[in-house]
Amino acid sequence: MSRTSTSRRSETRLSRIELRSPECSNEVDLAEVASFLSSIFPSVSVKVRPAPLLNVKASSREQVAAYLASSRVKDISKPIEPSEPMYGEVDYELRTLRGDARIGGIVYDGRRIEEILIGLLRSSNELETATIVMTDRFISTYSQDDLRHHLRTVIPGFPSIISVPGMVEAPAKPRQYYMLKQRLASTGGESLNIELLKRTFKGRFLDYGDPEMTEVAKGLALQAVLHHLTLKPFCADKKCRLFNAHWQEDLLGSQTGSPGLCPKHSRRMKRLGENPIVSW
Ligand SMILES: [Zn+2]
Repeated sequence: MSRTSTSRRSETRLSRIELRSPECSNEVDLAEVASFLSSIFPSVSVKVRPAPLLNVKASSREQVAAYLASSRVKDISKPIEPSEPMYGEVDYELRTLRGDARIGGIVYDGRRIEEILIGLLRSSNELETATIVMTDRFISTYSQDDLRHHLRTVIPGFPSIISVPGMVEAPAKPRQYYMLKQRLASTGGESLNIELLKRTFKGRFLDYGDPEMTEVAKGLALQAVLHHLTLKPFCADKKCRLFNAHWQEDLLGSQTGSPGLCPKHSRRMKRLGENPIVSW
C-alpha cells in the first residue's frame, strides 16, 4: 500500500438509505421519495422499510411505551425533563405500538424520540446507512433562541426524523390566516370556518391529502441525507430545496412548482451524488 493511501483518514461511503414508513398514514408516496433519492445518489441502495415504532419486540414494548409517554411535551416553555408517565399515557402508547390506537395530537420531544429510535435501529444504524424515519407523530425541539418548543418538519440526526403532520402544522400559515381565523372564531360553526379558511388561502399552505405532500417530503429527505454526509443540511436560499422553512409559503416556494437547488448546492449535490463520502 502506498504511503498516501495509508496516511489518509479512513473514508466512509454512504451505501444505503433506509426510508422508514410512517406508522399508518399514506400521505406521502414513499416509492416516489425513494426514486428521487436514487436519482441523486445512483450508487446508493435506497429501500423503503417498515415503521420501527410498529415493529417493537413484544418484550420491549412496555419499556418503549413508557419512554414514549415520558417524551410528551407538556409545557412548551421548558426543555423536557424526564418524568414518571401516568398509567393511561403508557397504556395509550402501548396501543399505538401494537397499531391499535390512532396516533395524533400529542407532541413528542424530537431528541428523545431519536434516542428511542437509535435503540430500536441499533443493528442497522452504522454510518454507511442513512436512516430516515417518517412518523405520524408531532415532534418538536426546544429552541434556545426564544426559549420554547417548536414543532418540526424534519429533525436531522442519526436517524433523521420527518414528521408527516409536522409538514402541515409546523411551518406557520400566512399571518392573515390567523387573523381571519380569530375573527371567525366568534361566529361559531367551526367546520364551516375551516372550509372557508382553506378556500381563502388555497395554495398558500400545505394540507393533508395534497399531492404536494410527496414533493415536500422529497426535499426534507434530501436535507436528511445531506446532514448524514456533511452535518450541514440547510441552505439560506429560499428557492433552494434545502431551505429550512418556518413559514408554509416558504415551504411551498422551496419544495413545489419547479423546485431545485441553488447553484452552490447543485454543484455540491452533483459531487456527492457521484461520490457519497461521509465528510465530517
Ligand atoms: Zn442551497
